[in-house]
Amino acid sequence: MKATIALLPGDGIGPEICAEARELLELVAEKDGHTFKLKEGLIGGCAIDAYGDPLPEETVKLCAKADAVLLGAVGGPQWSDPNAKVRPEQGLLRLRAQLGVFANLRPVAPHPVAAKLAPLKTRLLKGVDILFVRELTGGSYFGAKRREADAAVDECRYTVTEIERVTRKAALLARGRRAKLTHVDKANVLETSRLWRSTVTRVMRDEFPDVAVEHLLVDAMAMYLLTRPASFDVILTENLFGDILTDEASVLAGSMGLLPSASLGEGRVGLYEPIHGSAPDIAGQGIANPYATLLSVALLLRHSLGLETEAARIEQAVADVLDEGVLTADLSRKHAVSTREAGEAVRKRYRK
Ligand code: ATP
Ligand code: MG
Repeated sequence: MKATIALLPGDGIGPEICAEARELLELVAEKDGHTFKLKEGLIGGCAIDAYGDPLPEETVKLCAKADAVLLGAVGGPQWSDPNAKVRPEQGLLRLRAQLGVFANLRPVAPHPVAAKLAPLKTRLLKGVDILFVRELTGGSYFGAKRREADAAVDECRYTVTEIERVTRKAALLARGRRAKLTHVDKANVLETSRLWRSTVTRVMRDEFPDVAVEHLLVDAMAMYLLTRPASFDVILTENLFGDILTDEASVLAGSMGLLPSASLGEGRVGLYEPIHGSAPDIAGQGIANPYATLLSVALLLRHSLGLETEAARIEQAVADVLDEGVLTADLSRKHAVSTREAGEAVRKRYRK
């Protein structure tokens, strides 16, 4: 197939991990007979330095024409002055808005190697294979904000349409997995949560009778994620709860360096990135873990290009090299490999 992929390495370790992603994409194209046009653009702090704008017009145009966007990470101490007018993270928020990506997907399926690093009993992590679907463009993060004399307000607003479209996305994904959807809200106290609960219930009953649904309150969910994580398949929730729960869930995976994410909109447009940040403390040293970014490439191939075989082969290659003990410094103190070595190990596996 033919596809144009925008590569936005960003700041910190972004360029190092994206270099591995680029080589993997080139390998997939070559081995499986695809034509990928890979086009790089600036975003975040490096774009502020070059253009005074964290999402320059060139990058907007590049992404608008692409079939998918792969991002490294944005931000760093040199751009984090709280009084600064422009901040790297604004570039990412604007890009999400431009692409209209309203569903944020985060798979959490801890590999045994990483599970050992998790501060949780390994027995609890056995069989954990969760897919979070977090609503990304509504709720209190985007509602009206204001200050009053001695008060502050963040409005939390959701429309039925916003809830329906992300519910359908989550339900379709559940259908392709273990056909179970856990919807998380706070319907005992929040009006938006009551709308979520009734809308999710209706959409699932009318359109997805084959998918089992459970509703849980977010406070209980915070507990269940650590006591019975293996009982969940797809977890659907609104923006703020999803932000908190997905960070909690990343602990299940042992390392930040292993978790990919996808942000999807209508159709096939998608933005793919590792969940970790720009890790300025280790940037430029060639020791960052590239696996989360390579797994994000797998999600890109699956969700935006429909290349399921290639996606699964990348996931298997990463699992295999972890089994073999090809570990970066965040996963192992002894015999740590470099970013390049880890990337090459995955490519070698993929070639086989
Ligand atoms: P952000 O605000 O951008 O999310 P953050 O401060 O929350 O940044 P990260 O940049 O993700 O966090 O880094 C948190 C810690 O995890 C750092 O010590 C960093 O070095 C480490 N880390 C993050 N990503 C990786 C990676 N891919 N490989 C190795 N270590 C990593
Ligand atoms: Mg962070």
